[in-house]
Amino acid sequence: MSEHWDIYADWNPWHGCTKISPGCKYCYVYRQDEMYGSEIGSNIARKTANFNLPLKRRRDKSYKIPSGRMVFTCFTSDFLLRDADPWRPECWAMMRERSDLWFYFFTKRIDRFMECIPPDWGDGYDNVLVGCTVENQAMADYRLPIFRQLPIKHKSIIASPLIEGIDLLQYLDNTIEEVSTGGESGREARPCHYDWVLDLRRQCIEKNVPFRFHQTGARFVKDGRMYYVRRPFQLSQAHKANIDYRIGRFYAPETALWQWSDDDYTH
Ligand code: SF4
Repeated sequence: MSEHWDIYADWNPWHGCTKISPGCKYCYVYRQDEMYGSEIGSNIARKTANFNLPLKRRRDKSYKIPSGRMVFTCFTSDFLLRDADPWRPECWAMMRERSDLWFYFFTKRIDRFMECIPPDWGDGYDNVLVGCTVENQAMADYRLPIFRQLPIKHKSIIASPLIEGIDLLQYLDNTIEEVSTGGESGREARPCHYDWVLDLRRQCIEKNVPFRFHQTGARFVKDGRMYYVRRPFQLSQAHKANIDYRIGRFYAPETALWQWSDDDYTH
């Protein structure tokens, strides 16, 4: 896995977010701000110095984010945050201009999607993947019926931080490009049970939807025993479980893989 990190890029056009559902309880944005002693409240959204990163160029005029990257977007906030409404149109315009990149954002505010899209969205931009986050059954049952109706070309379900077992079966079909799940990080993390993870995997296999177990979280329960997993090992331990289903070698939805030929990234 790690040999392929160079196909990814991060873009955080703004930072700061307001808590909206149980999965936000120990939000990593708040934890990180506390750790770094930020003087501005984590609930105050502000544009970052990298707001226009997709359009930034080097001295030789090439883009700072090279063509073909998967750009994880807005990971220190929520892309559909209301406070960011005035800034988002510029972001959509950048995504449109950089049609040579994939933009991937996750949101807990999928119910705001239709009021946030640009006028030319149509049935979705080809290069934008949207992950609808669901951390428990209640959020799945509220958000996923909305998600199902939305005009989005690339959809994924992010069951994370998984704080209880979730039945997703009725929401899984061939419009869902992956289900990705993981436990919670941080000192106060709630436990993630391996049985819940395996049950989601079973549901995905039943519906032939790609499944990925992306991290264990800090407290991981397996065979009735609680394991405390330090941050550097939470991804690798999940990967070692080797339970992903139909997930390509680039750790991205299968449908996004057409752009990376075997020759592009062999190290
Ligand atoms: S929506 Fe995401 S970024 Fe915002 S508070 Fe919740 S967990 Fe944090």
